[in-house]
Amino acid sequence: MTESASPPEWQTRPPYTDPRQREASGQSFVKKIEGTCHCGKVKYWLSRDKPLGSKYCHCTDCQVMHGAPFQWAAIFHKEDMSFEHGVRNLSFYSSGAKKPTHGLPCKVRCDNCGSLIMDEGRNMLLLFPSLLKFEGNEELKRNFQPELHIFYSRRVLDIPDGKPKWSGLDGQSELMSE
Ligand SMILES: [Zn+2]
Ligand SMILES: [Zn+2]
Repeated sequence: MTESASPPEWQTRPPYTDPRQREASGQSFVKKIEGTCHCGKVKYWLSRDKPLGSKYCHCTDCQVMHGAPFQWAAIFHKEDMSFEHGVRNLSFYSSGAKKPTHGLPCKVRCDNCGSLIMDEGRNMLLLFPSLLKFEGNEELKRNFQPELHIFYSRRVLDIPDGKPKWSGLDGQSELMSE
């Protein structure tokens, strides 16, 4: 009559394993940058100080779900991120299924303040760097400067910053003029 207390398999893998679990299982995890949501209930660490890439997305899904004209995201491996309290205080939204479940790809947010934390893809993470604590370190912040714009054809404002502007996905659509 008792249910198994073991968590779903995905909760036992990065980024949902906390730094102590990583150490206990013999992985090294160096805490380089801290990220927190608006209310502070969700806290995470990054083990690398430079993303694999960084971009602005102007797609209409981002406009709707972020309540913003466009979105800023930085790409990381799942192993590069570790939530201090595991899945506690996280809520999930599967954008494909349009359901509040952990189905990839999915949006992850704080279940208390609603701050959007990241898009979890099947293989990678796209996290939202506005939550990172750069502590006045301009060099560190520069590592996260977006290199390009995607879905610029859907933009609600022009951004003449000289960076490449793709009409859809980068490398899979047309480059646009400013
Ligand atoms: Zn919060
Ligand atoms: Zn988008």
